[in-house]
Amino acid sequence: MIDFHCHLDLFPRPQAVVSEVEAASIYLLSVTTTPKAFARTARLPTKASRIRTALGLHPQLAHERHQEVELFSRLISETRYAGEIGLDGGDEFARHIVLQKEVFNRLLRSCSDAGGKFLSIHSRHASGEVLEALRQHPGCGTPILHWFTGPIRDAERAVEMGAWFSVGLPMLRSKRAGPLLAKIPRERILTETDAPFASTKGDAYPR
Ligand code: MN
Repeated sequence: MIDFHCHLDLFPRPQAVVSEVEAASIYLLSVTTTPKAFARTARLPTKASRIRTALGLHPQLAHERHQEVELFSRLISETRYAGEIGLDGGDEFARHIVLQKEVFNRLLRSCSDAGGKFLSIHSRHASGEVLEALRQHPGCGTPILHWFTGPIRDAERAVEMGAWFSVGLPMLRSKRAGPLLAKIPRERILTETDAPFASTKGDAYPR
């Protein structure tokens, strides 16, 4: 079992979740939303764990946390994974899109300078802009588009660029998910929960 996008550090009792994940031998990418959260979050798993911690700066926080880009650059050599990073063009965040792009480009440059990473990427209402930024940083590594909801043509472009996708149940509930996923090769699809943010009806994530 793989959970390629999970916010372990945002659970009320992260250590209890880590214990359950490790007991179940789940491979899990523990994404962070700010560089300041990385060190503490990276200490959660035990040594033999299948949990890996990604260094992130969430696009919805870019306007508040852009000063942490430098910390991101200092820490990136400590992990093979970056995330959650990307762009958010939704109503509440579109007014910060210029700053978001500047931040995202700097993060991608850091990943390139560090030799390339596995990147868990947020692209809500901004998939075209995300792909353009990735195109400008061909050395940034392997992008994995998390909870992708963009147009099918952008999904096809992303596949051509070598991107992967991480897919969770909430995404599958959308009517557009079927036709979209039909365009993505099976071997480019990973599973994800985005927990604790997204949950399935009538079922809670472990605490
Ligand atoms: Mn997330």
